[in-house]
Amino acid sequence: MSLYIAGYDISLQSANGIAFEIYFAGCPMVPKCKGCHNPELWEPFENFSEEEILKAIDERKEFLDYVVLMGGEPLGIRDLNVLYDFISLIRVTYPDLMIKLYSGYNKKQIEEDPLKLKILSICDEWFLGPYNPDKPKLFEKNNVTVNKKC
Ligand code: SF4
Repeated sequence: MSLYIAGYDISLQSANGIAFEIYFAGCPMVPKCKGCHNPELWEPFENFSEEEILKAIDERKEFLDYVVLMGGEPLGIRDLNVLYDFISLIRVTYPDLMIKLYSGYNKKQIEEDPLKLKILSICDEWFLGPYNPDKPKLFEKNNVTVNKKC
């Protein structure tokens, strides 16, 4: 099953360093988050294979600090076993890179799903929960936030 990777970018905005951002297309959230930053990623489609993304990371690995998984909803419509294997491969191949996950699911929802929890366990940092522009950003020491843009 496809991972539905829509694109990638290099950014200083999503992590505490230089990040290789991977955009996953497809979001199953109902209702959608008010003020969603990427509504063009609600429907699944694929522009890049896993191999193309790994090659793009490899070409930039010397100056990267992070790989950031965002969307769309990374933990949404795709085969989470395939996603876990993909993240694990990044983890093993580039042990110096931090891995950060942005997800619209909250911590309780993730803890109720063993596969989602397994993926969270191999990430270094995460921002969880639906985005709401009317609420202030609330950050906690364990990297869980109740408000974020993905
Ligand atoms: S903010 Fe993320 S989880 Fe929320 S609707 Fe947009 S893509 Fe989906």
